[in-house]
Amino acid sequence: MLSTCHDSNINGIERFISGVSLFMSKPIHWLVVTDLDASLLDESYCWSAALPAVQRLRNLGIPLILNSSKTLSEMTELATALGTMTPVVSENGGLISVHKDSGLMDPNHVLVRSGNYLTEVNGLSRDFIIGLAHALREEQGYQFQGFSDWSIEQVSDRTGLSHSMARCSLSRHATEPIVWEDSPERYNAFADSLAKAGIRVLRGGRFLHLMGEVDKADGLVCARALYEKVQPKVDWKIIAVGDSANDLAMLEAADIALVIPHADGPHILPKAPRVVYASTPATKGWNDTILTLLTELS
Ligand SMILES: [Mg+2]
Repeated sequence: MLSTCHDSNINGIERFISGVSLFMSKPIHWLVVTDLDASLLDESYCWSAALPAVQRLRNLGIPLILNSSKTLSEMTELATALGTMTPVVSENGGLISVHKDSGLMDPNHVLVRSGNYLTEVNGLSRDFIIGLAHALREEQGYQFQGFSDWSIEQVSDRTGLSHSMARCSLSRHATEPIVWEDSPERYNAFADSLAKAGIRVLRGGRFLHLMGEVDKADGLVCARALYEKVQPKVDWKIIAVGDSANDLAMLEAADIALVIPHADGPHILPKAPRVVYASTPATKGWNDTILTLLTELS
């Protein structure tokens, strides 16, 4: 009898706490944080197949945040074409930028002003990274080439970018993409030497990216923090979208990880609270799966 009474009291307390929690819970708003190459963009760097989902996000007031190894110059052109004024994370989390009219960043904290964007820099400078990588190449005879070795025309040939986009791609502050042309064993020794100086090597779709101890997950966290600061009474949840190993940390920091497969299937298996695999590659897979998720979540 005593036991029943006790259980009854506990149940009552639990119901009360549950009710208070329900009353105090924040409204959920979603952010979509997306990789570009082979996710939002197809192999021709085109995003037109994603237009329906981009418009749906805009209609729902869900910010679309671009998070890529690309440079700020490349990404702000795309953001303008997409019609977004949302944060841009460039150079693999090395830079986070907001539109000057967004009200998301304190201008006093800004380190770089470029066009309509205010930028904070994370990680190491590109000059430091290139200085050490080239010194190792000279000392050890490592065979690799990077963006700093190439002209605009060579970057264009290597990437398929137009000359104007190649110029934007060369305008870097925190990362250096390279192509390794030496043995795997010597790569390991090279990477170890870089690591001792705090430089990490991330494998992207086309290049190895030499950079400081930040990644796309740091970009995601910074972007969410910007929104939490201006709207603290909202529970900001994130759908992250990516296709390659370079996106794993970002996907695993999200509430929903959306994996875009390549033509021969998905290349990554992130561990996130929820993982969704698009049924087709970029850009159609991005569009179709975002639309499906928005229907489910709204
Ligand atoms: Mg990609």
